[in-house]
Amino acid sequence: MTDLERRQDRAPVPSGWDYAPAPEARDIVTLQERYGVFIGGELVDPKSGEHFATIDPSTEEPLAEVAQAGPKDVDLAVKAARDAYENGWSGLSPAERAKYLFRIARILQERSREFAVLESLNGGKPIKESRDVDLPLSAAHFFYYAGWADKLEYAFPNRTPRPIGVAGQIIPWNFPLLMLAWKVAPALAAGNTVVLKPAETTPLTALLFADVLRQAELPPGVVNILTGDGRTGAEIVKHEDVDKIAFTGSTEVGKAIQRELAGTGKKLTLELGGKAANIIFDDAALDQAVEGIVNGIYFNQGHVCCAGSRLLVQESIYEPVIDKLKERLKTLRLGDPLDKNTDVGAINSKQQLEKIQELVASGEEEGAEIYQPPCRLPERGYWFVPTVFTNVAQSYRVAQEEIFGPVLSVLTFRTPDEAVEKANNTPYGLSAGVWTEKGSRILSIAQQLKAGVIWANTYNRFDPSSPFGGYKESGFGREGGLHGLEPYLELDEPRAGK
Ligand code: NDP
Repeated sequence: MTDLERRQDRAPVPSGWDYAPAPEARDIVTLQERYGVFIGGELVDPKSGEHFATIDPSTEEPLAEVAQAGPKDVDLAVKAARDAYENGWSGLSPAERAKYLFRIARILQERSREFAVLESLNGGKPIKESRDVDLPLSAAHFFYYAGWADKLEYAFPNRTPRPIGVAGQIIPWNFPLLMLAWKVAPALAAGNTVVLKPAETTPLTALLFADVLRQAELPPGVVNILTGDGRTGAEIVKHEDVDKIAFTGSTEVGKAIQRELAGTGKKLTLELGGKAANIIFDDAALDQAVEGIVNGIYFNQGHVCCAGSRLLVQESIYEPVIDKLKERLKTLRLGDPLDKNTDVGAINSKQQLEKIQELVASGEEEGAEIYQPPCRLPERGYWFVPTVFTNVAQSYRVAQEEIFGPVLSVLTFRTPDEAVEKANNTPYGLSAGVWTEKGSRILSIAQQLKAGVIWANTYNRFDPSSPFGGYKESGFGREGGLHGLEPYLELDEPRAGK
């Protein structure tokens, strides 16, 4: 027997090829039992006297109690923001403002693991996403807008940029810290002060951010954070001393806010839902496209407003694409959000899980064919198996409505014109994806798609320098880039001849 044969004999035989658990330690996060509201630079007891529990959606375990801010708390927060605006912040030299933003960015980087663990604990998203996407992008947003703070005159030449005043900002639960960064960074860079409400189910990273503000020695009142449910948001919207509202969330609430603000002269930006088409042409690199499809819809459990939730596949490649996609779905690992190997985490709330279940049931009833890979769901918490619907007609609810979960609806097309027509056949217009080898086709299709963001041969890529926002029922106004400063500034009409 040769040496090699002998060694093989003795080699241990693995009992399976499953990934061993690789949980991220959660002891880097220190939670208080109960939190107040952050007003004038202090966490104070809410005047409402009310609190509610916030949980870990992957276990339903309570994490802490947070305040339900009421009308008096909103009023105090707005007064603190107004005071900070008039007595310091708006008059501070732009270069000094920039220093605070740089400081916040650096502290977010330094404390990124703590933030990432807390984001996954409270929101259910996989740690590898909060660690590699949410946190780096949040810090990058503060860095980016710090750079603009003292260059506004160059950003908007001949238009004398001035801050607006107090901005009310209402954010959702899918990217809690990142949406905070998208809103707070440009507002402060432009010289405004802020009253921010995080979503009811994910308040904890916003409260940890309050600690970052203290660490950065941001003047009291420049940023105020009020936790609470939709009622707190509604109070902020209708407060008469708020000059601008920035909202990200559902189209339904966005419309209600628009009605409330009509005729008040307050500025408004709305970033609402989507039902994006991810279009795969027959000359696309199929393996890469399948990765793009998976990233487009299963990233963050599909809780993404720009998710590629409608897959449009050219008929000639339908079978290989669907076969490859189903094979790929079998390899997705669903489970503990704090496990570094997890691809699909927990659904953010019971309410959201029920919404997904209801829409998926409607898809089956209407006649679509469902595919779900074999998958064992944890016993506690809120979970949904990554799902693909084929045989979908454009009229089905799963092709029309935003599911906001890990559910993909597949449609087919024959010609580029048909692809464009089907892609645009939605009340939304936030994003889209195009997969093809041909550069000329990318440009031609992109020009015809009614969507604010279009990715080519990739999906769900974000950068602070790139504006983001929608058309139609996806809202109006842009966040990110130079465009993201405009909603936070008063700008004179351009002066002629200059
Ligand atoms: P909402 O639009 O209700 O929530 C977004 C934010 O607005 C939250 O902070 C919410 O508070 C607050 N809010 C709720 N009602 C009001 C109001 N009347 N006035 C002011 N603020 C208010 O979204 P949901 O969380 O209910 O999610 C429902 C659906 O919305 C999802 O299934 C998804 O389709 C879509 N959605 C889209 C998002 C996007 O990124 N475009 C993000 C989140 C949801 P509270 O948390 O207490 O409800």
